[in-house]
Amino acid sequence: MEEPPKLSFAREKLLEEAKKALDAEGTSNKKNVSLVVIGHVDAGKSTLMGRLLYELGRLDEKTRIANERGSNKVGKSSFSWAWSLDGTTEERERGITMDIALQSMETPHRHITILDAPGHKDFIPNMISGASQADCALLVVDAATGEFEAGFNRGGQTREHVVLVRSLGVSQVIVAVNKLDQVNWDKGRYDEIVDFLRPFLMQSGFQSAKTKFVPVSAMQGVNLTAGENETSKDLRSWYDGPSLVNCLDQLEPPTRDIYAPLRIPISNVFRGQGSGTAVSGRLCSGVVQVGDRLNVLPGDESAVVKTIELEEENVPWVAAGSNVTINLTSIDPVHLNIGSVLCYPSEPVPLATIFTARIIVFDIQVPITSGTPIELFHHSRDIPATIANLIATLDRATGEIVKKKPRVLTKGSSAEVQIILRTTSLSGPSVVRPVPLEPFTANKDMGRILLRRGGETIGAGVVLEIFG
Ligand code: GDP
Repeated sequence: MEEPPKLSFAREKLLEEAKKALDAEGTSNKKNVSLVVIGHVDAGKSTLMGRLLYELGRLDEKTRIANERGSNKVGKSSFSWAWSLDGTTEERERGITMDIALQSMETPHRHITILDAPGHKDFIPNMISGASQADCALLVVDAATGEFEAGFNRGGQTREHVVLVRSLGVSQVIVAVNKLDQVNWDKGRYDEIVDFLRPFLMQSGFQSAKTKFVPVSAMQGVNLTAGENETSKDLRSWYDGPSLVNCLDQLEPPTRDIYAPLRIPISNVFRGQGSGTAVSGRLCSGVVQVGDRLNVLPGDESAVVKTIELEEENVPWVAAGSNVTINLTSIDPVHLNIGSVLCYPSEPVPLATIFTARIIVFDIQVPITSGTPIELFHHSRDIPATIANLIATLDRATGEIVKKKPRVLTKGSSAEVQIILRTTSLSGPSVVRPVPLEPFTANKDMGRILLRRGGETIGAGVVLEIFG
């Protein structure tokens, strides 16, 4: 039997160490933030990130040339910049980004973890998982004639992505107005897009001070970094604002609640690597160190933390707000599932099958009635559930009750509802697997939910009370 790793610190001491380190981080000038990239398919998200990584020196010339050759081979040469983020063969051949490729970049004052987002309609669940781990969204829109509109109107993903990331708690957004080369750097077009998007972003819940717009061309590398290049003079004739990197460099770092109970929702499981199994996810709250024994909920299993990897380096402990990969031992990997939560045995996360939530209904065609079956989306997992009861409709601004026991909920309404989980298996004994949840007032990250129906996100909300 393998010796479990030794704890470096007693609990109290660990919190003290974490506090010291985070205070030091607060005064040092490099802060960690994480970013989710959103926007309509083909807006240029992957191109932008590939080019940005290159400009910042994260992608060397050799890799770029290899990417260029690789993408020429499959007949998609314009995708060469995008190559660096689009990992699997399937993605490369289809020219779309499907999964969340973890990469990072350095700006003068920030270390930024990029949770890349896919643009294709089918991949919204992956985007949600990225967004639920992000501090900021980078929204890429296509300025080309007709393209911005196509991405925004019904069927386009711009609108849905914005509403989703805000619902998942992302409060900062940078809008990269891309492909301005295609409209000859027309200031009128840039202004038109900004004037259209700003009110929409405000309505979706973003504050003006936390919303930035920046004109760019990902393809030509214009206004990504502060440096000038050949083609940037057209833009410079009317724009003297910040570059994209300047905006990224001013992102607000996350607040880190290290004293709350540890919660690590698993967003990915990597089986059969080395001696143990690795899981990745973001620490919503608390602190964890190598050697800790953690419970995996739901279930009765526990595991021991063997190593903690943060930004490709092994570290002895990590605190809330970090995206990490943790190697676990003393557990059968079958018990590790996406959506399960790691916590200390003394502070288990509550498990719910019936709870109430305050929700906002998105732009839906078919109204919600009591008994509406939904998929509950919580921390990278879809769970079959039913909106069992419509308790009341609420005023969106004040939260006060407008009407008790409404018959239906239509688009744009805010309501308190009761949600009951359904059984997951069609054959065999019907079992309802409870979901780890917490009231929003206890833990913001654990208390946010999304409601989906038939592949479409119909609402978002926060957990009020758990009944069992
Ligand atoms: P994604 O689906 O949002 O990741 O979009 P891609 O990065 O795959 O880009 C879609 C297409 O737009 C590709 O053919 C890119 O070469 C092209 N593209 C991206 N950025 C620019 C740009 O700034 N200017 C022009 N003209 N084309 C661009």
